[in-house]
Amino acid sequence: MRAQAELYGAGVLRGRIETIEERDGSFLACGNNIALEARAILLATGTNNRRPDLDPAMHRSALERGLLRYCPVCDGFEAGDKAIGVIGADARGVAEALFLRTYSEDITILPAGAVDISSDDRTLLERHGIRVEERPPLRLDCTGSRAIVHFRDGSQLSFDTIYPALGSEANDHLAQALCLDMADGCCIAVDQKQRTSRGAIYAAGDIVFALDQISVAMGHAAIAATTLHNDLRNLDGLTRQ
Ligand SMILES: Cc1cc2nc3c(=O)[nH]c(=O)nc-3n(C[C@H](O)[C@H](O)[C@H](O)COP(=O)(O)OP(=O)(O)OC[C@H]3O[C@@H](n4cnc5c(N)ncnc54)[C@H](O)[C@@H]3O)c2cc1C
Repeated sequence: MRAQAELYGAGVLRGRIETIEERDGSFLACGNNIALEARAILLATGTNNRRPDLDPAMHRSALERGLLRYCPVCDGFEAGDKAIGVIGADARGVAEALFLRTYSEDITILPAGAVDISSDDRTLLERHGIRVEERPPLRLDCTGSRAIVHFRDGSQLSFDTIYPALGSEANDHLAQALCLDMADGCCIAVDQKQRTSRGAIYAAGDIVFALDQISVAMGHAAIAATTLHNDLRNLDGLTRQ
């Protein structure tokens, strides 16, 4: 993809943009050894899933082996009929467990901290045969062929796969600094053309309040790029009035 972008004249820089300032109708984006001037900005900074406490190498290996999964929409089908642990004994964990119930009858909710499940939710979970483990796990071990959850009393539970339902952190510091309107607290609000609340700034992908999927991000990007192109042509008097 990088080679294709470069073939068509796009420059690809490595680094993190720390600030974006608007000056005289254009933007200056700056980061470590980067200073870029631009007439328009497309923010596609994504989000980061909150992770369970695992060292980075084990986390990566567990992901590669399907012991750890983050996206039931993406790979719930691959977890079909497997023993699934969902980390997060709260409304988010309940929703994720119920989503996965379509694929497997063997689901256990594990607390990440305190158990915070309403009595209505407990009734719903019971009706669907979803177990709730009340003890907080001491540690998660993904070195073997299964994900092993260890408890303080020495006992353990073993799963084919674990879904952490711990939410995510949006990479929203640029959007916040630019005072863009946000949706749901941390995602950028856009119109149907991917325009943000501020002129000449567009947004696409997970940082936008929408379904976090590659196909959605690419659709956003296609719409945003076309809108941006047309808005600039309009400014340059290249459109019919
Ligand atoms: C484990 C996992 C599995 C998934 N599986 C699937 C799947 O099978 N199918 C599917 O459709 N989706 C899947 N998803 C979701 C998919 O990865 C996202 O929807 C998609 O990557 C969103 O693309 P994006 O470009 O918006 O954000 P990202 O891919 O997150 O890219 C954002 C980029 O911006 C960079 N960035 C952030 N801030 C700055 C800054 N200030 N300056 C410079 N760079 C910055 C980040 O480092 C990152 O490289 C999965 C997600 C996870 C976590």
